[in-house]
Amino acid sequence: MASGQSLTPIFVFLLCLVSTTASPSVIQILRENTVSEYRNLRIDDDPFCESWRLSVETNDAGYWSTIPARCLQFVEDYMTGERYSYDSEFVAQDSLAFAKTVEMAGDGRDSWVFDIDETLLSNLPYYEAHGFGSESFDESSFDSWVDLAEAPALTASLSLYNDLKQLGFTLFLLTGRGEYQRNVTEKNLLDVGFTGWERLILRGTSDQGKPAIVYKSEKRKELQDEGYRIHGNSGDQWSDLLGFAIARRSFKLPNPMYYIA
Ligand SMILES: [Mg+2]
Repeated sequence: MASGQSLTPIFVFLLCLVSTTASPSVIQILRENTVSEYRNLRIDDDPFCESWRLSVETNDAGYWSTIPARCLQFVEDYMTGERYSYDSEFVAQDSLAFAKTVEMAGDGRDSWVFDIDETLLSNLPYYEAHGFGSESFDESSFDSWVDLAEAPALTASLSLYNDLKQLGFTLFLLTGRGEYQRNVTEKNLLDVGFTGWERLILRGTSDQGKPAIVYKSEKRKELQDEGYRIHGNSGDQWSDLLGFAIARRSFKLPNPMYYIA
């Protein structure tokens, strides 16, 4: 009798424990909590990643090598959703609005400089397969992608490019790609609809090892010394736009996936 009384509370406790553990409603609550916690994490991450993106787009962040791990989903959503297209379209519209104010001399010296990667051509298919900037840059892997010459055009930039050509601007393409990539780059550009550029400028042997901001400034200076007036410059990196021999107006395209000094 005494031993039976002492066993009853233990039995009841074990029964409750088993029934509680096996209860579908409790399992459901745990599941909901997990989803809720995950959602809260996402909600917290989005403002952080929005601010991080503003920081890199305004060049406040300075040098960075890979995107923050917590922003991987954010960058993927931004790049593959409509935001990237909208932002690119805004840049193109602002560029065209300025271009229309330029008084053209009609001597062929009124010019515009375009970067190529993430400006005229989109490497999004490559970055979709490589973590949207969460992986360290692999030059040989990227070069293999460039060799395919399959990068699509950035739609907004192609439209701007054609409008500027129509307005009479002389168009220069100034890229960090190397001379050894000239043929595939020309093929890729032509295949997706870019035609009629004045000159495609790539890194030659003497340009190797120079920071992009120096290399691109030097090339713009050479154009100015030839008598070209660089009214506009379009690029996804601040190193496309800053330095010296700067265009009258610079237009920064969005790129939250990588940074080039
Ligand atoms: Mg670029």
